[in-house]
Amino acid sequence: MIQANTIGYMNSAAPDFDEALDTLLRYDGSTSDDVHQAVVQILRDVRMHGDAAVVDYTNRFDNLGVADISALELPRAALLAALEGLPSESRAALECAADRVRNYHQRQVLESWSYTEANGTRLGQKVTPLDRAGLYVPGGKASYPSSVLMNAIPAKVAGVSELIMVTPTPHGQRNPLVLAAAAITGVDRVFTIGGAQAVGALAYGTQSIPQVDKIVGPGNAYVAEAKRRVFGTVGIDMIAGPSEVLIISDGTGNPDWVAMDLFAQAEHDEVAQSILLCTDVAFIEAVAESITRLLPEMPRKDIIAASLKNRGALIKVADLDEACVIANRIAPEHLELAVEDAEPWVAKIRHAGAIFVGHCSVESLGDYCAGPNHVLPTMRSARFSSPLGVYDFQKRTSIIHMSPAGAAELAPIAATLAYGEGLQAHARSAEYRK
Ligand code: NAD
Repeated sequence: MIQANTIGYMNSAAPDFDEALDTLLRYDGSTSDDVHQAVVQILRDVRMHGDAAVVDYTNRFDNLGVADISALELPRAALLAALEGLPSESRAALECAADRVRNYHQRQVLESWSYTEANGTRLGQKVTPLDRAGLYVPGGKASYPSSVLMNAIPAKVAGVSELIMVTPTPHGQRNPLVLAAAAITGVDRVFTIGGAQAVGALAYGTQSIPQVDKIVGPGNAYVAEAKRRVFGTVGIDMIAGPSEVLIISDGTGNPDWVAMDLFAQAEHDEVAQSILLCTDVAFIEAVAESITRLLPEMPRKDIIAASLKNRGALIKVADLDEACVIANRIAPEHLELAVEDAEPWVAKIRHAGAIFVGHCSVESLGDYCAGPNHVLPTMRSARFSSPLGVYDFQKRTSIIHMSPAGAAELAPIAATLAYGEGLQAHARSAEYRK
């Protein structure tokens, strides 16, 4: 019998399955009033008082005692020193991951294009990188060097002229891997600030921190709310929800691998979501047994247990076709096809942030070093959005170069439509070109 005390069990044949699945997927990501009010105040202060507000809030929230903002900028020499000081194994791993991520993203670059019509009119699209991007690297409770690689490399590949990184250093503790990753990726300036004050500084600019055009990177509730509020003044990448994995299994492979893949997602936090869809009840039982056996040895077992209990599920499905239908409904951030002959099933998955094909293609490889970006759409937004990429740091401008013959040909058409809309000046300016 499947143990349901660590993780829920469901069967797609049950009459209430649709409703139960909806309940499982539901997540209230709304910001609490306290966070909302704090962020409004912090953004207002940063906008009005610039550096002074950034310094005040940084001293308060990150337990520092700096006198002015110059103490919160790290010179490039500090980044290089962090890189030089890394153990050789860490440095090699970071450089290998960076090379692979760069290699993958170089294939994403959008090129300008144009075409010329018979009458000489040329139409096209001009692609331009952003001038300046801001990269938020979280640092409150843990540090994420992989986030530096995944956000900075596509920006650099796109040709962004200047990349400004912000990362909080609570109690002045700097993470050498984060700084080394900034050095490797060619980040231009680094400020040791975080939270809503860092987002505000990047969005509005201060006396010392330049205003950017777009802010990317994950963060806690304060960071997410601040990004939401400055959108419009600057661009943002996305507001990410809790991380998710969906594993589709045909009952082949090793149940310990599947259990550990579920744990890998669950260890992020208590509201991360880990779901298995499997055609074979005996394999589901084996995975449940693996979960029970492996959980006690995990250092983050409390977080994993809470996450699996809150939002995890082992789901029996009729066949792989049904699994794909359910997967498209869930539109997960990460989807693993833990299936013997996995490749043919890729075509049936329409909605997922990233698809990991076959038993060896595990999410943790993608998180760090496979090459594709680990910043992926969550909370079913894979239905309409895509992984972070080079194209998030490029803009497109339309080019319209009419030949005299082309203008003469289109003028009556434009004028007719303009008169239809009651816009005289539009019509006449077109007719002048006849
Ligand atoms: P963080 O850098 O996001 O936030 C730390 C900052 O929060 C502090 O510097 C402070 O300014 C601000 N803050 C803290 N308490 C505050 C308060 N009471 N009032 C106002 N501001 C306050 O670091 P974190 O807290 O460790 O959060 C990191 C988040 O990023 C986590 O939720 C993690 O799951 C997420 N994350 C997501 C991804 C992803 O790819 N989706 C990757 C890495 C991290």
